[in-house]
Amino acid sequence: MINIKSLTKKQIIQYFIDNGEKTFKGQQVFKWLWQKHISDFDEMTDVSKKLREKLKSEFVIEYPKILKKQTSKDGTIKYLLELNDGVAIETVWIPSGRRNTICISTQAGCAMGCKFCYTAKQEFIRNLTFFEIVDQIIVIIKDLNKRPTNIVTMGMGEPLKNLENLEEAIGIINDETGIGIAARKITVSTVGFIPGIYELAKYPKQIKLAVSLNATNDKIRNYIMPINKIYPIEKLLYSVKHFIEIKGKRVTFEYVLIKGVNDSKDDADKLIELTKDIECKINIIPLNVSINDVDSLFKPIDNETVEKFTKWMMKGHKAVTVRKSKGRDIDAACGELKGRESLKNY
Ligand code: SAH
Repeated sequence: MINIKSLTKKQIIQYFIDNGEKTFKGQQVFKWLWQKHISDFDEMTDVSKKLREKLKSEFVIEYPKILKKQTSKDGTIKYLLELNDGVAIETVWIPSGRRNTICISTQAGCAMGCKFCYTAKQEFIRNLTFFEIVDQIIVIIKDLNKRPTNIVTMGMGEPLKNLENLEEAIGIINDETGIGIAARKITVSTVGFIPGIYELAKYPKQIKLAVSLNATNDKIRNYIMPINKIYPIEKLLYSVKHFIEIKGKRVTFEYVLIKGVNDSKDDADKLIELTKDIECKINIIPLNVSINDVDSLFKPIDNETVEKFTKWMMKGHKAVTVRKSKGRDIDAACGELKGRESLKNY
C-alpha cells in the first residue's frame, strides 16, 4: 500500500477533489500528517468515518524507524534512521543556546567525493524523497517533544543534486500547516553545484544559501573537492553573486580549515580578496577527524592555527565565525556522518 505522505500537498488536495470533496478536506488531511504527525487515520477527527475507511483501504501512514540514538556530552543527538526500503541515514539535533538546529540529510550516501568528508567514503545510494527529507525532522520532534528553530542541509548528500525533492520538502517545512519554520531559518548548504545554484535562485522562498568553498585556488580545490574540476571557483563565485542579486540576501561561505592544505596567510589573503565584492559571511570550520579514523589523510588542526587564520580573516573581512565542533564524542560533527558504517556497528 502507498504511504500517504508520498503525496505532495497538491496531490492530496487533488485526491479529495477527485473523490467529490472540497479543497479544504485535503488541506485538513495535510495538516494532520505534517503538523500533527498522526500515525493512525482514526486520529483525523474532522474527517468522516467513511472517508477515513476509504483512506485506510488505499494508504498507510509510515515513518522512518530510529535504529540508533547517541547523545553527546554537549547535548547533540545523532540519530540513525531506517527508511522504508531499509536504507539508513543520519540526522543530527544540535542544541546551542536558544537555537536548536536539525541537520538533515538529502541523499543516502554522496557522489561528490570530497576528500575530507566521511559521507564520501561510502558510495552514493539514492536521493531521498521529499517526505523522507521532512520526516527526519518529524521523527526528532516526536522523539524529543521539542521543536527546532533552524534547519540546515548539512547531513549526508548534496542537496542541489536532489533539487526537486528538496524544494518540495522545504515547502512542507515552511508551510504554516506543515512544520511552520520561517524560510530564513532554513539553510541549504552546497558543495558548489553551479546549475543547482541558478535553479535555487529561481525558487521563490527566502531560504539561505551556504557554499562550501574550502579552498582559494583551483589546484587545491580540485584536489579536495573534485567537483571543482567541472565547476571552478571563478564560475562558482559568479553564480553566488547572481543568487545574491536575485534574493537580496547575503550568503555564507563555509571554509573547512585543513592543516597544511588551506590554512596559510596567503590563503587568508586570497579568501578576503575573492569575497571582497560579495555580501557574505565566512564560517570557518576546523576539520573534524573522526575519533575512529586513525590513518586519516588529514590531521586534526590545532587551535592556534584556527585562531591565527581567524584573526587574519577578521582584519580583512566584515563577518567571520568559527564553528564550534558539536557532538565530537559521538562522531556527529560536521562531515562525520557515515551511516553505512554506523549501520554495520549497530
Ligand atoms: N554537500 C553539502 C552539504 C553536506 S556537507 C556541502 O558540501 O555543503 C556539510 C558541510 O560539512 C560542508 O561545508 C562540508 O565542507 C563540511 N565537511 C565535510 N566533511 C567535514 C569534516 N571532516 N570536517 C569539517 N567539516 C566537514
